[in-house]
Amino acid sequence: MTVLEMQNVVKDYRLRNGLRSTTLRAVDQVSFTLQPGRTIALVGQSGSGKSTIAKLLMQLERPTSGAILVDDEPMVYRGTRASKYRKAVQMVFQDPFASLNPYHTVGHHLARPIRLHHTGLSSEQVEKRVLDLLRRVRLDPAEDYAQRKPHELSGGQRQRVAIARALAPEPGILVADEPVSMLDVSIRLGVLNLLATLQREENLGVLYITHDLATARHFSDEVMVLYRGEVVEHGPADDVILHPQHDYTRLLANAAPDPERRLAELQR
Ligand code: ADP
Ligand code: MG
Repeated sequence: MTVLEMQNVVKDYRLRNGLRSTTLRAVDQVSFTLQPGRTIALVGQSGSGKSTIAKLLMQLERPTSGAILVDDEPMVYRGTRASKYRKAVQMVFQDPFASLNPYHTVGHHLARPIRLHHTGLSSEQVEKRVLDLLRRVRLDPAEDYAQRKPHELSGGQRQRVAIARALAPEPGILVADEPVSMLDVSIRLGVLNLLATLQREENLGVLYITHDLATARHFSDEVMVLYRGEVVEHGPADDVILHPQHDYTRLLANAAPDPERRLAELQR
């Protein structure tokens, strides 16, 4: 189990055009704590800084200032503690088509992280874990799916493989950056329900990044609204979405007029 915390995190990008350089503040004084077994939805329109926060948590970027704490200790980027962290925090990306290699089987995609993170397992033990992961993401019969190549899967099935791969190192935290926005509307709810089930069963902390307030409310304990890199609202999901305090949250809510109806549409 992992507790992840951001404290006043700032991320500036230096933009050069010609001889001049300007600074773009992509993330501005962001603070939150993600506890095991909790889901925080990070919502905001395109360009608000959501993916930059994901990159900071995945160690693909470093904060300009502020602190990221892991179980109360400052994040480190090298050495044993860093590799423990990279195992504990896993990511599900937006595009299930880009994230899998067309030449490798599903089994291969899952065996790799298992071998990497659990050295010394026999081939049979790896195989057993592969099948177990496929069953956990409800790809059954697992033996059949393990043999398949990505092009033999639907978008939703690919995203389930991506989720299984993220679970392979046995993480405490899952960062899901718009995990269903590229999927067919009819299968979105199935994938989100799977994430919710796994989150409950495995006591994961989930950062669910989305611009969809309806699913944010339905699948999260807390909602955090990001506007131009800043958290403008953060609280229990129902409070934030039913009684938004900030104009920008109201604007987002109006862009998706009725969360209940949107959800009903998804469930049809
Ligand atoms: P979101 O995921 O909410 O759409 P991003 O985090 O991707 O937003 O981007 C936030 C802001 O930071 C945007 O203005 C984007 O153009 C800028 N940005 C993101 N990555 C970089 C980068 N590597 N270099 C310069 N600017 C960037
Ligand atoms: Mg993004």
